[in-house]
Parts: sequence; C-alpha cells; structure tokens
Amino acid sequence: MSPREAFAEARGLVSLIKDSAAIPPIVIHKLRGNISVLEGSGGNIAVLTGPDGQVLVDAGIGVSRPQITKALAALSAGPVTHLINTHWHFDHADGNAWLHSVGARIIAQENTRKYLSQVQRVEDWDYNFTPLSPGGIPSDVFASERSLKLNAASIELRHYGPAHTDGDISVTFAEADILHAGDTYWNGIYPFIDYSTGGSIDGMIAASDANLAATTDQTIIIPGHGRPVSSRAELKQFRDMLVGIRDNVAELKMQGRSRDETVAAKPTAAFDAEWGNFVIDPGFFTRLVYEGV
Ligand SMILES: [Zn+2]
Repeated sequence: MSPREAFAEARGLVSLIKDSAAIPPIVIHKLRGNISVLEGSGGNIAVLTGPDGQVLVDAGIGVSRPQITKALAALSAGPVTHLINTHWHFDHADGNAWLHSVGARIIAQENTRKYLSQVQRVEDWDYNFTPLSPGGIPSDVFASERSLKLNAASIELRHYGPAHTDGDISVTFAEADILHAGDTYWNGIYPFIDYSTGGSIDGMIAASDANLAATTDQTIIIPGHGRPVSSRAELKQFRDMLVGIRDNVAELKMQGRSRDETVAAKPTAAFDAEWGNFVIDPGFFTRLVYEGV
C-alpha cells in the first residue's frame, strides 16, 4: 500500500466511525455504585447517576444523540449536569455541544480544550478536525489533577502526561473502584496513537504502567475502545502486547529498515490474531509504533 492509499484508507475510517454511530442502538452495561457504561457511539461512555444529576465520562458522536438520550433516560431522570472529556478526539468529544445545550458543565485537561478550540490536523488520519462550537468547548480545565464529589462518589481526574495524546486523563470512581482509562487502553484491539497532539508508543506504555499501578484485581476498568467492561488481567495483556511490539519494531528500525520494510517484516505477527481485528490493522499499528522508536 502506498502512503497515499494508506492515508485515504485512514481518512475513510473517520467517516466510517461517524456514520456507523448513527445506526446501532446503545448497549447499557451496569457496573456498580450507580455507574454504567454506554457502548455504541465512538468511545465507551461512563455514566454516574444520582441526585446531583447524570455525570458522563466522554460524549460519543453527535449523531447518536437520540440513542444516547434514550439510554440515559433508561438509567435515571436527568439532567446531565457534568461531562468529563478523557481527551479531545471526535469519537469522545463530538457530542459535547448537545450535552452542553442540555445543561452539562464540561471538564477536561487544558490541552484538550486547546485542541477542541482550533483546527486540528491529525497527520496519520490525513484529516483536519474543525473546532467545536463555543458551547462544546470545555469551560472547566485543569493541568494535572482535579477532585470532584458528585452523587456521593469521589471522582479523581488525573493527567497521564503524553500518552495517546498529551491531554489524556484517567477518571477514577474511588468507592466503586472503577477506572475509566480513556484511550490509553483499548481492550483486545490495537490502539491508535496520536503523534500530532503529543502521543507516542512510549507514552502509551507509561500510561499502561500507571493504570496497572492504580488498580487491583477487584477494579473494573473501562477502556476507551473494545469490550467495555475490563479487568487488570486484560489490561496487563494490553501492556505486554505494546511492549512486545515496541521491542520488535525498535529492533528492525535499529537494523536500518525503512518503515515499509518494517511493516513487511510483520513485527506484530504473534499478536495479530488476538489484537488485529479492528480499525487499527497490523500494518497501521506497525507504522504508528515505528514513528516513535
Ligand atoms: Zn482517542
């Protein structure tokens, strides 16, 4: 595949993800402590319900508004009062504007606000994302940490540093022992890494280590993508996959192989059957790792 063909394929994926969100129903997974996950509109969305209103972690894609509205109504009476963005990507923040219009205060790391406020080019998707309308831009931002107490839940927001982007945060619900890891964790599938806004393979590995350090075998872990209810054991497999492929790709690059030669050598082969079945295919993931070693 030529670079031009690869880019065209990647750009098509953005449209594909947006269009596909309009069709499927939202699947609700009830966890514990009045916390659920909504699956089916871009990234996995966590919802905390209670007297302070609904608190969402990520907004999904705008065209899913009818299905998300229906799913939220099935969980509890509204309104949505708070929305936390794990990072700026469209499949997590495209729904910001409509959620703000129904009353959500939007909270994010300061880099996320920056990227949502300006035209943002993602080189590896060959795609220019336009700024959100003013209402969709997070109004409440922080640099490294933020604590909230809502619906009797202690919610901790923590900046990872550069990982999948440089604005990713983890969201921890302390009493329920639930971690939403955003796109630092893709359960059972190769992840996208956004070098255009500060992500890297080494940052992804560091974030995985931070997620492992912050959890136990009892913790429920919500990944940004992939099967939405996960565990520390599965997270460990993801981390080991990242490290294994990073080592293989670094070795090939050190030998002087070009990016295309490295892809042709199939450094992900041992992992492809399990991890290579989503939008980030083995060749695409190899190119992303190559860029950062
Ligand atoms: Zn993302």
